Amino acid sequence: MKKIIIAIDGHSSCGKSTMAKQLAKEIGYVYVDTGAMYRAVTLYAMRHGFYPDEGIKEAELKAAIDAGNIQISFKFNPETGRPDTYLNGEKVEDEIRQMDVSNRVSPIAALPFVRALLTEQQQAMGKEKGIVMDGRDIGTAVFPQAEMKVFVTATARVRAQRRFDELMGKAKTQEEKDALNFEEILKNVEERDYIDSHREVAPLRQAEDAIVLDNSELTREEQSAWLLERYKEIVQC
Ligand code: C5P
Repeated sequence: MKKIIIAIDGHSSCGKSTMAKQLAKEIGYVYVDTGAMYRAVTLYAMRHGFYPDEGIKEAELKAAIDAGNIQISFKFNPETGRPDTYLNGEKVEDEIRQMDVSNRVSPIAALPFVRALLTEQQQAMGKEKGIVMDGRDIGTAVFPQAEMKVFVTATARVRAQRRFDELMGKAKTQEEKDALNFEEILKNVEERDYIDSHREVAPLRQAEDAIVLDNSELTREEQSAWLLERYKEIVQC
């Protein structure tokens, strides 16, 4: 069967990565979470003092990128069944999902030199096709030629609740659970939607030829079944 590129874009925390990962597993494709790449760059900037409260130190971050000091890779984790993100050889899968990174990632992702670096890496990953990539600009900027494009959305409240439940499930101590605040998560989801949709380079928008999925009322199983059907329709054409 012919191999294609599947681009899954949409708003923050709408379950794109869960759907994308599940589809990739079912059809034997490689799955790439591009949000994790932007999060890893953000973590690097935070750890190196390039993102103090006053704002991003763009020149320092750009110098680090130009010097090749930020290497991002993925390694499949058989325990979780999904790829873990590595930053310069260190597994950072848990750190990049924390709220401090979520609160800073969108301004980092709006920087043209960050987008240029990651877009190039993502395009290289899709050279052989047979890939499911999720993000914000995959069907519009990274792979405008993708054979299958899906734009996923749901109401901000539904998305914040899902993110809250996910973080609660991951919290290891009572203290970590008590620190989670639904309103803070909702604010973060809304702020990221705004910044992602209004940036100059590759803003979040629906590609004209994307199929839209509003999954506010759908279970995971229903979404997965829907996605698999769309894939079959496209490869059979
Ligand atoms: O998908 P996730 O929520 O982990 O993405 C984190 C952030 O990375 C998004 O809010 C967005 O600012 C940025 N992003 C992006 N382009 C992508 C993927 C993610 O700008 N392709």
